[in-house]
Amino acid sequence: MSSIFTKIIRGEIPCYKVAEDEKFFAFLDINPLKKGHTLIIPKEEVDYIFDLDEDLLAEMMVFSRKIALAIEKVVPCNRIGVVVLGLEVPHAHIHLIPIDSEADVRFSNPREQMNEEEFKDLAERINKQII
Ligand code: AMP
Repeated sequence: MSSIFTKIIRGEIPCYKVAEDEKFFAFLDINPLKKGHTLIIPKEEVDYIFDLDEDLLAEMMVFSRKIALAIEKVVPCNRIGVVVLGLEVPHAHIHLIPIDSEADVRFSNPREQMNEEEFKDLAERINKQII
């Protein structure tokens, strides 16, 4: 069975898409630690990030950088935190999280409450900043 993230890539489950290219897909985390919390996934469905082909893994980081620089332009923050957990969804993903301090990346923190309009607007604004 396909992962929930593969279904998102195929458009079978809705998401707030930030960007995609032929190998990767970026979309807003539905339960964000901070506004702008974005997930980067390879289109190839592989559970564990370190099982990815090494070239694909390197390209995934370059794609993540492009998205991180765009998030920074939209969301005021000290920097973009980069986190990999993969404990919940078995499809490799990188969390990009705008942070001001270490406390902002605690996954036990309460999540930001955002409505659909805010999610949509934020995804569009980040997309426009991608070079
Ligand atoms: P983890 O696998 O532990 O890195 O966590 C999975 C992340 O995916 C969590 O931050 C969830 O909020 C996020 N997530 C799960 N389902 C969706 C979805 N349908 N759309 C966007 N984000 C999701």
